[in-house]
Order: sequence, then structure tokens, then C-alpha cells
Amino acid sequence: MEKSADRPNKKKVVAVVGGGLVGALNACFFAKRGFDVEVFETRDDIRTAKVVKGRSINLALSHRGRQSLKSVGMEDKIVSNGIPMNARMIHSPNGKQSPIPYGKKGQYILSVDRANLNKELLTAAETYPNTKLNFDHKLQDWSPETGLMTFVRPDGSLEEIKADLIVGCDGAFSAIRKQFLRRSRFNYSQTYIPHGYMELTMPPINGEFAMKPNYLHIWPRNTFMMIALPNLDKTFTCTLFMPFEEFEKITTGDEVMEFFQKYFPDAIPLIGVDALKRDYFRLPAQAMVSVKCSPYHIGDKCVLMGDAAHAVVPFYGQGMNAGFEDCIVFDEIMDQLNEDFSAVLPEYTRVRVPDDHAIADLAMYNYIEMRAHVNSKWFLFRKNVDDILHFLMPGTIIPLYTMVTFTRTRYHQAVELWHWQDRVINRGLLFCATGALLGGSYLLVKNPPDINKLSIPAEKLWNRLLAVWTT
Ligand code: FAD
Repeated sequence: MEKSADRPNKKKVVAVVGGGLVGALNACFFAKRGFDVEVFETRDDIRTAKVVKGRSINLALSHRGRQSLKSVGMEDKIVSNGIPMNARMIHSPNGKQSPIPYGKKGQYILSVDRANLNKELLTAAETYPNTKLNFDHKLQDWSPETGLMTFVRPDGSLEEIKADLIVGCDGAFSAIRKQFLRRSRFNYSQTYIPHGYMELTMPPINGEFAMKPNYLHIWPRNTFMMIALPNLDKTFTCTLFMPFEEFEKITTGDEVMEFFQKYFPDAIPLIGVDALKRDYFRLPAQAMVSVKCSPYHIGDKCVLMGDAAHAVVPFYGQGMNAGFEDCIVFDEIMDQLNEDFSAVLPEYTRVRVPDDHAIADLAMYNYIEMRAHVNSKWFLFRKNVDDILHFLMPGTIIPLYTMVTFTRTRYHQAVELWHWQDRVINRGLLFCATGALLGGSYLLVKNPPDINKLSIPAEKLWNRLLAVWTT
């Protein structure tokens, strides 16, 4: 193959390694700027492949992802194939369902099909005449000094290709990132959480969705949970998140039924007894990893984006959205610094690392909020207080979820604002509670009850009042 970077008098060559969600979108961004774009993807073309292996079947798309899609003219196409989810629908063990809205009226996240999204983005990238998609190209190694990459083909042969800029979008186990790890002053950490995930399908009933479709259904059970997102074919994809050791305890179909009977009884008739007993053992539970690293670039030669830079656990529904936002942030910096890679790459690291690290931490936090906090009365009370204050002071008090999901507030600033708001609101609540207690006591002292007229003994009454005050 022609070593593209050696071609004289041509626009610079950008190699995007990884043709997943972020790689395919990034190819559109670079192609739009007129670079010669080459995408290298280890898999076959998913648009023609019979079997598509991969992670979650559907994903929640929100504002950051949508803004990035909009920049390359893809938002409407993707949104028209998504299913709006206006609220979480909490399923309690007795089958009671209670909605908790995500934001204000009219705010929603979208359930989108991962494979379809990836296919649409690849097709969009291919419509640019300056883009070439190379499937069945697995990156084996590359040189930060020269930009020379070595790919392995399915027949074992090797291919060497050079590029001016290499964009590593090759996912959580990035081969591009391996070169970074060999260098000094590269920070890297990865954490596997003790939970795994397993996907189960809830089929339609009489051609209709088995549950209300415009919700993200959640069965929070404190140490584990199940969620379900709707699909266009009227199925739901249910994802069970649970510690690996709990998955391993269940070894027979009867044990699966016992477990579901105890924790998710309302889901049994909807998924089906036979399907449950069969599908639980179809694939082992999958692991989830959180990866943080810094810097994201090497010189003016290479930059990491998407999961290659920051794999996050899926509990904030932000992994892909953050990866898509990486592309738009890079694009904005390209405008500011006149496409000068030697200035753009360090600036991208400077701007983006704190934000991606913040969303990685928030995703870990939401891991507990989704499976446990949503069961707590204090959480629901605080959510209502936050919503009322947001309604009264929309520019001052903004719930964390709203900032993360429905705005492009930088992730690290959203965290700072959240902590500040939390402090202020908690102090306000304490102030109100103290005021109510003192006011109540004052009224009681000023207007003492006539003990003779009480139908219950005075001592009992005081005990009751004390119990109310102290709980
Ligand atoms: P990937 O999607 O992993 O794509 C990487 C690509 O690189 C792949 O196509 C791969 O084949 C290719 N590749 C790998 N190695 C090589 C190599 N050596 N050479 C060439 N190509 C290579 N995010 C959300 O925003 N919302 C959600 O609701 C959500 N739900 C999730 C649920 C689950 C269960 C999981 C696990 C994740 C979820 N995510 C969600 C996160 C989201 O899936 C990822 O953040 C997103 O897929 C990252 O895209 P990417 O392109 O960076 O990486």
C-alpha cells in the first residue's frame, strides 16, 4: 500500500485506528476538514457481516453525543431511530412501578441501537471522497517517532502504513495506548469493578412493548440491579448488573427462577420462563473496566479518544457521549489553533483530561446511586427539593444529572457546582429544620397543653414528641 504520508503536495493524512462509535464519528470530523482520512478496523465491515460481536445492544444517547452528531450533520438521522426515555421507572420487589423524571418536561434521553449507530456513522464517513475505510486491519504496533503503523491481516500478512496524525479510537484495550505505556511520565490506572453484566431480551407481547416504552426501567436491589432499555423492534434489552460471585452461584435453570422469583418477580412473565432458563447461560457475565490515563497525546503524532483514553463504567450512560464529545472538543481546538497539531494535541490533553477523569468518577458514583440510593426516601426528598429549587432558580441551582446529561457544562465544573449546591442546600435544609424545631418548641412552651383535657397520659405524649424530634 502507498505510504500516504509520503505523498507530496497532499493534505495531511490522518489515520483513525478503530472503526467503532468514536472512530467512525471522528473520521467524519477529520474528513469534513479536508484531511485524507484512513480508518483501520480490526473487524470485518459490520454493515455486511453476518455476526456482529460486541458490547451492549443499545445505549442511552444524550445532549453531548447529540451535539457532536449535529456537527457532522448526523443528529436528525440518529434521533429519528431512537426511542425517547423521559424518566426512570423504578420497579419495587412487590411489582409497584414509580417514575422518576430525568429532568424538566420535554427533557429525555434516547435509547439507540449500537450496531445501527455504528453502521450509519461508517456510511456517513464513507460519503466523503477523502475517506477510506480499511476493515480486517488489526493494529499490531506503531512508531511514535515516524508514525509508521503495522497491521495484521486475517491471512497473517503484515501491512505497513504511515500517517501524519494517528488517532487512537481502538477502545478500552487500545493497542495504540500500549506505546504510551512504554514512555516515561505517562499516568495510567485501570479498575475492574466486582460487578459483571449480562443481557437478556424481553420480547413484545401481542406485537406491543411488554412494558411502557418511554422509560429506562430499573429494578434497584441495593447490591445489584437490572435495567431495561426499549428497542425499535418492540423488545427490551434487560441488563443484569451483579457481583461475579453472585452470577456464579446460580448454576441451574431452577436456581435462575428462584433468584428472579425473589428479586424480579414482575419480569418473569415478561421475559418468559423458558427464555430466562436458557438465556441466563448463553454467555458468561461480562467484565466492566474503568481506565484513566494522561496525557492523551504523544508530540504532534498521536492522540487518544473515546474508550482508548477513558473507559468508564456504564452507570451514567456517558461513555459514548463523552467519547463523542472528545471529537467535538478536539474539533473546536483545531479551529482555535489553526489545525497546528503541535499546539492542538497538548491543548486537547490540557482541556480534556480533567473532564474525562471527572466523568469516570461520576460513573462510579452513579453505580451506587442507581442500585441503592434510588430506594432511599432521603434521595427522593432531595431530588424533589433540587427540582423545585431548579424551577425557582434555573440559572443557580441545576441538578447534577441535568448538567451531565442535558448540557455541555464541562464535566469537572459540573462536579464542582454539584458539591457547592449540595453544601448550600443541606445548610438551608438544616436551617429550616432547626427553625421549625425552635418555633414548634416555642409554641408548645407558650401554649402548654391542658394536661387534664388530654385523652392520652402526658408522659406518653412527651415520649412521642421526643421520638419525632430525635428521628
Ligand atoms: P469501542 O466501541 O470499543 O470501539 C473500538 C473499536 O476499535 C472496535 O470497533 C474494535 O474492533 C476496534 N479495535 C480494537 N482494537 C483494534 C486494533 N488493534 N486495530 C484496529 N481496530 C481495533 N455509553 C453511553 O454513552 N451510553 C450508554 O447507555 C452506554 N451503555 C453501555 C452499556 C454497557 C454494558 C457498556 C459495556 C458500555 C456502555 N456505554 C454507554 C459505553 C460505550 O459502549 C463506550 O463508551 C463506547 O462504545 C466507546 O466507543 P469507542 O469507539 O471509543 O470504543
